[in-house]
Amino acid sequence: MTLTLYNSLTRRKERFEPINPQRVGMYVCGPTVYDRAHIGNGRAFVVFDVLYRVLRDIYGKEHVRYVRNITDVEDKINAAARVNGEPIAALTARTTAAFHDDMSVLGVLPPDVEPRATEHIPQMIAMIERLIASGHAYATEGHVLFAVASDPHYGQLSRRSRDEMIAGARIEVAPYKRDPADFVLWKPSAPDEPGWDSPWGRGRPGWHIECSAMSETHLGESFDIHGGGLDLIFPHHENEIAQSTCAHEGRPFVRYWLHNGFLSIDSAKMSKSLGNFFTVRELLDEAPGEAIRLALLSAHYRDPLDWTDERLRQARHSLDRFYRALTLSRDPVFECFGEAEEALRPVKEALEDDLNTPLALSRLHGLVGAINRTSSDAERSALQRALEQGGRLMGLLEQDPLVWLRGSTQADERRIEEQIASRAAARHQRRFAEADKIRAALSAEGIVLEDKPDGTTSWWRKD
Ligand SMILES: [Zn+2]
Repeated sequence: MTLTLYNSLTRRKERFEPINPQRVGMYVCGPTVYDRAHIGNGRAFVVFDVLYRVLRDIYGKEHVRYVRNITDVEDKINAAARVNGEPIAALTARTTAAFHDDMSVLGVLPPDVEPRATEHIPQMIAMIERLIASGHAYATEGHVLFAVASDPHYGQLSRRSRDEMIAGARIEVAPYKRDPADFVLWKPSAPDEPGWDSPWGRGRPGWHIECSAMSETHLGESFDIHGGGLDLIFPHHENEIAQSTCAHEGRPFVRYWLHNGFLSIDSAKMSKSLGNFFTVRELLDEAPGEAIRLALLSAHYRDPLDWTDERLRQARHSLDRFYRALTLSRDPVFECFGEAEEALRPVKEALEDDLNTPLALSRLHGLVGAINRTSSDAERSALQRALEQGGRLMGLLEQDPLVWLRGSTQADERRIEEQIASRAAARHQRRFAEADKIRAALSAEGIVLEDKPDGTTSWWRKD
């Protein structure tokens, strides 16, 4: 067992060596709860859930502590509450519950600790006070700012030049700032904004200090892994490093920084204005959560992932194939033999090599091939166990195979009937090109339509 991970800080793959194998610590930036999670958010949480499962497999469940926060004080929340005409507490409670529902259908395990920013305000204030006392921050006009020039290591993660950093952070040039690169630790709140009493007046924390204070509270000053999306490297994670190391007199903060790649939709950047923005909820109308999860894992986590209908269709097809192999006759007596461990090893090796989920999935397909080929009951049962366990390490194959297969057939039939109805409607309205397109798409799936002389479809069958 050798886990290697790509560390964004050193920009290379490194062997993972925890500070204390009895207490492996991981922090992942959680959602800002103002809106439903979109599929790009879903990718990050699914990816780090796989890492959590792999760590638990290697070090034991009780030796891994996964902290994923809820950002429930942030300006986007205030803005959304204003637009909705909804109290902030009601908005964050509703959105947090929806987030938990989405994670559960995606098969994402709850973290060991899920701290909320609003419950850690005293820790944030204490950290800011330490930063002021050590000359790394200053209070001015109700704000407290981090003095970037006081930290000679600032920029170590993103490796950006000072000008790039200032441009990249889209920092507002405010008269109270000593330096345009300085960022907010605390800001004053208007009477209608959420606020807490502090030595600098009634106000609220900046987003970056929230994560530094919550990770310190639940994982200590130094811990093993910090994860998040690529877009968080700068400024969020850069600022977390600056705050935490300066508040801890230069002691190391995080050993391994991990970032997952971007997600595009049909080769375009996902954006609300382009109309190609999907929430996890919306996608669940099209496919079961497990298929969405597998599709998210079908690219390596550091690579960009292009979300297409085809990718989702293939994910469903893979699950059909995996679950079908698990329904073949199976004898639990044979499953405890070493053969299952042996067959599982290549899947584990792929995952332990910087979470190579595409390779692990192709090895699961290899197991299915071997299951279908063998005539030995003992071998089949051992391979089935390996398939099941390998799937579970990725948060897949956790349901009763028959439940999946039945659901899959029903959903398939419903979808096919709907397409046949749209084709009939298109023909009726003499939109023949569209009708032919639907027929061709169905035929590509091996579905044969038999038309009656009056133009309606009398029956269909799968080739
Ligand atoms: Zn964070």
